[in-house]
Amino acid sequence: MPETNRRWLLARYPEGIPEPDCWRLEAAPVPQPGPGQILVKAKWLSVDPYMRGRMSPGGNYTKGVGIGEVMQGGGVGEVVASNHPGWKPGDVAESMAFGWQDYAVLTPDRGGAGGVHRIDPSAAPIQSSLSWLGMPGLTAYFGLLDVARPRPGDTVVVSAASGAVGQLVGQIAKLVGCRAVAIAGSEEKLAWCRELGFDAGVNHRGSDVTAAVKEACPDGVDVFFDNTGGPIHDAVMRNLAVGARVIICGRIALADRFGKPDIGERFNGHLIVTRASIHGFLVFDWYHRRDEAVRRLAAWGRQGRLRFKEDVLEGIERMPEAFLRLMDGSNFGKQLVKV
Ligand code: NDP
Repeated sequence: MPETNRRWLLARYPEGIPEPDCWRLEAAPVPQPGPGQILVKAKWLSVDPYMRGRMSPGGNYTKGVGIGEVMQGGGVGEVVASNHPGWKPGDVAESMAFGWQDYAVLTPDRGGAGGVHRIDPSAAPIQSSLSWLGMPGLTAYFGLLDVARPRPGDTVVVSAASGAVGQLVGQIAKLVGCRAVAIAGSEEKLAWCRELGFDAGVNHRGSDVTAAVKEACPDGVDVFFDNTGGPIHDAVMRNLAVGARVIICGRIALADRFGKPDIGERFNGHLIVTRASIHGFLVFDWYHRRDEAVRRLAAWGRQGRLRFKEDVLEGIERMPEAFLRLMDGSNFGKQLVKV
């Protein structure tokens, strides 16, 4: 066991898109678990778009990371010491409260989104707990099935469709009898979406996205699962069907304007015409039903009805690089770091 814990600290708050010098890597002593706690050695760490919101003094829906604090993030690894009767060395633990570091002290009795989950390595590769059997999986599952409530035959449009959340939204939409339309940033990503079963695709780097969405959705869009905001949002909003449900899941296209007003078209007149509704979604509201979603997603996976693409970088030194890939779309699938 190395004697140090390499950990990434927030060095400064970014203006717009973060830059590599927003973090610094330091070597600290390996922490010791207190009563009721466990020490976990990271095997896989996750980078996710929500981390941009945490890099802000004001925070977002939850408190941000302070300057000099360990960068927040999910991870999965092996228990190496335990002061908790329910956990022993060798167990595998996942938590959103891991942080960008080699070793995390976790508190298993803590509930909610920052809770600690026991992972069965024989059920699926353990990094799945950070992707299709973890937070992004829950986002797709609850955002689509419980909030958008798709009906068979609905046209479901998903932005950032080849990403961690998007690829699952499209596949779940197909499982419940919908037509799925992908919006993604390259022909290669769209080809992968078609392999997954999406019926049509729109390249948002193409010339007229509004016209392309219209062509892909001749009867209009019944469900819009919006992972990006920005110009893609506007293009799909212009194509809503009567009774459409719009799920505002993410705004990664506005990452360079974090904290500033979202200047764009207003669709209120269009909402009257289409009687559409817009729902803000936050996955952390759904963690009380985590087990249900994981069970169902795992069953679909076992039956070969869900596939999932990961994009892996190796080495904790690459955490900032991995995170920044999300902002320019160079990730292809769920971005992970193997420690
Ligand atoms: P992805 O794996 O989809 O990675 C991000 C993708 O966003 C990129 O690959 C890129 O895809 C796309 N993107 C980046 N910049 C832009 C841009 N300027 N314009 C358009 N597309 C862009 O990430 P996740 O699946 O983890 O997350 C997807 C979204 O879901 C994020 O906005 C995230 O914040 C949100 N989310 C929200 C949750 C909630 O509870 N509300 C929970 C989990 C995620 P491409 O090349 O196709 O453009």
